[in-house]
Amino acid sequence: MWDNVKELMVGACDLHIHAGPDVVPRQHDLLEVAQEAAEAGMRVLGIKDHNTATADRVALAQKIIPESITLMGGIVLNNAVGGFNTEAVDKALKLGAKIVWMPSTDACLTIEKVHKTNQTPWLLPVVDLKKPEQGLTVLDEWPSGKNIRPEVKEILKLIAEKDAVLDTCHLSAYECSKLIDEAKDIGVKKIIVTHPNCSVNPMTISEQRELVEKGAYVSYAFLPCMPLFDRQHPKEIATMMEGIGMDHCLLFSDFGQIFNPSPVEGYKMFLASLLAVGLSENDLQKAAKLNPARLLDLD
Ligand SMILES: [Zn+2]
Repeated sequence: MWDNVKELMVGACDLHIHAGPDVVPRQHDLLEVAQEAAEAGMRVLGIKDHNTATADRVALAQKIIPESITLMGGIVLNNAVGGFNTEAVDKALKLGAKIVWMPSTDACLTIEKVHKTNQTPWLLPVVDLKKPEQGLTVLDEWPSGKNIRPEVKEILKLIAEKDAVLDTCHLSAYECSKLIDEAKDIGVKKIIVTHPNCSVNPMTISEQRELVEKGAYVSYAFLPCMPLFDRQHPKEIATMMEGIGMDHCLLFSDFGQIFNPSPVEGYKMFLASLLAVGLSENDLQKAAKLNPARLLDLD
């Protein structure tokens, strides 16, 4: 099985990893992760920082890492960049950002899961706001407003103009549904729904399917399976993947934490675990390589 995993790593894309420098300690810096990923034959890494845009550091790193790997930078719309700040998004895109993530640690839903319902205690150290209504939502009212905020619509226009990726990050299934409708109307083509297998933004298979029908890819993260996180069984992820159909699945490690293996090692473990719980090599070819290549127009 390990040989299969090595082959699956060649051409694989992980569009959500964390690397130093960061405001929290990271296992590896960006150059170390990129080098390891290139050695494993990976094709694309998406570099996510909860607080700062990453397009500039990615552009510099790209000059000294092997050409076989492409780093993609982006911006996460938390309070450190002014939340839904059109100016910050515009400049990040001009700097070459390829992925615009909706809020993570400052999202209303995250604050609720961390401070109110206590379902995601492991995020406690990085979620400063205490009340869900103090957080960021794409809706005019939390949790069930009917309309997308005007500044979010402006951001969707910027994403559409640059044909960048819209990643729903830590939004609720309901927010995703509203946001994706709006994004499609505005002309956004590349949409990822992030880790609905995670306790911070869990979604049922039917909710995930609804988002796929609207035109999104769904990406599963391995992080929730780790001992200090949700201790999720990989079988649950495999069931979700089968439930929405392999042609719509992506895989993220979401690694970079100091107590987990490196993102590259994490991605390998993820593939091996999914094989072990019954997914086929063909299924994983799609999720690791073909689907991200199609999403990103790589071929
Ligand atoms: Zn992450």
